[in-house]
Amino acid sequence: MTAPSNTATGELISTDPRTGAEVGRFPVADDAATTAAVVTARDAAQWWAGLPPKARRNWLLRFRGELARNSEELATLISAETGKPVDDAVLEVMLAVVHLDWAATHAEKELRRRAVPSGLLGANLTATVEYRPFGVVGVIGPWNYPVFTPMGSISYALAAGNAVVFKPSELTTAVGRFLADAWAATCPGTPVLQVIQGGGETGAALCRSGVDKLAFTGSAVTARAVMTTCARTLTPVTIEGGGKDAFIVADDADIDAAVDAAAFGAFGNAGQTCAGVERVYVVADRYEEFVEKLAAKARALRGGDDEAADYGPATMPEQLTIIRRHIDDALDRGARALVGGRDSVGATTAQPVVLVDVPHDSTAVTEETFGPTVVVTAVADVDEAIDLANTSSFGLSAAIMTRDVSRGRELARRLRTGSVAVNSFLSFASVPALPFGGLGDSGFGRIHGADGLREFSRPQAVAAQRFKPPMNLLTFDRKARDMTTVRMMLRHVYGR
Ligand code: NAD
Repeated sequence: MTAPSNTATGELISTDPRTGAEVGRFPVADDAATTAAVVTARDAAQWWAGLPPKARRNWLLRFRGELARNSEELATLISAETGKPVDDAVLEVMLAVVHLDWAATHAEKELRRRAVPSGLLGANLTATVEYRPFGVVGVIGPWNYPVFTPMGSISYALAAGNAVVFKPSELTTAVGRFLADAWAATCPGTPVLQVIQGGGETGAALCRSGVDKLAFTGSAVTARAVMTTCARTLTPVTIEGGGKDAFIVADDADIDAAVDAAAFGAFGNAGQTCAGVERVYVVADRYEEFVEKLAAKARALRGGDDEAADYGPATMPEQLTIIRRHIDDALDRGARALVGGRDSVGATTAQPVVLVDVPHDSTAVTEETFGPTVVVTAVADVDEAIDLANTSSFGLSAAIMTRDVSRGRELARRLRTGSVAVNSFLSFASVPALPFGGLGDSGFGRIHGADGLREFSRPQAVAAQRFKPPMNLLTFDRKARDMTTVRMMLRHVYGR
């Protein structure tokens, strides 16, 4: 058991899931420490929001440089706390840096004041809208992508002019500390990004602390607790929840490419990806070829503690119980394991499992497994695949494999998800201009892109009177003839 200790000493100790070796040790932030961090952030937020946009951009680009220059050190730390291969961690840092760069360089253009048409009744007004920062944003992160995921909120919140108090997962505390230290090294003495450490209690304290917005990434169960706490103070929340993503293989798909993408999506990062591939629907004509090749690919993969392994152990050992339960449920109810089976879940690591003939109400299909398992189902056609994909309570993302890209885009519109990759896995996450987020149990609100910048801003509308209106209707002294004109306009302009 390599879970962190949150002991009577009030310390959090994070460990390497491969070896059990200690990686980081930090004091747990209680209510008082959490509130103090938010008070500090409030001062910093004033300074930060008052900077000219170009100055903010420059600081954020320096922050980007700091992270990029120290990316090997950061990747090694990610690997140590999560157990994922260092190369995967480097990719994660790369993605985070690309988003930070985009947020920094696009915030001014996307959020600045712009004029909007003032309309018939407002002909004497100049109407403008501008996206102003909230103030202090609380960010609560998960452990599976401890840099990329929280930075999806942190980068966009900072670029929009907010200060951030970040509570990383209790499993990836040292990574959280690294991010705050990198900011402090970039811009000393300006606590625009702070980190507080702790588990659920500290997260709940952050929800209660008076932050102006809370961005949560984690499971649907915790999301409900976060919303309940935030509801007491009407603190607005963004929820990036889990997923049960579908991967659809159409009749005209390139099967080798589909197998490659599905295997990486299902088994990469030990299956611990919110938008990982958990369900595959293959059109019947291509099913045999697909499952045969996927099974061969899966058999060649190995999870383990060593550097040669394709993926690491489960970061959170408790997850192995859920993975085992889903496999058992499927097999008990008539499913077959083409690769692996009940014995694939070891003490620290799960080996690849490919399940077929799984009843559609089995937990392996309905619940997030978060392990290196995948359920493959044959369907009559893509219409059936889309219907089945849409039965999930989650709605994070999906993938469609078809040689006809415009058909892929049309099919994508019928999927009840926040994002869709056509002919690839997860590619949308690497495009910083694209918003990311889900619906249903996958949450709401968006990070990334212009929508992500606006998610961390409050739109402020200003109507400035340039000259006295020909008819002043908002006065006790309005004229009867003006009301006659209003009545005429109502009938003739809008009553047609
Ligand atoms: P989790 O829900 O257990 O914990 C997430 C965070 O919430 C942690 O920092 C935890 O300490 C904190 N927390 C726990 N209880 C809390 C409470 N009562 N109030 C406030 N905070 C509390 O999730 P996890 O196991 O860390 O991460 C895995 C989950 O995250 C999976 O479901 C995965 O799909 C999801 N995820 C989603 C995305 C996305 O962008 N949609 C990205 C990565 C992970």
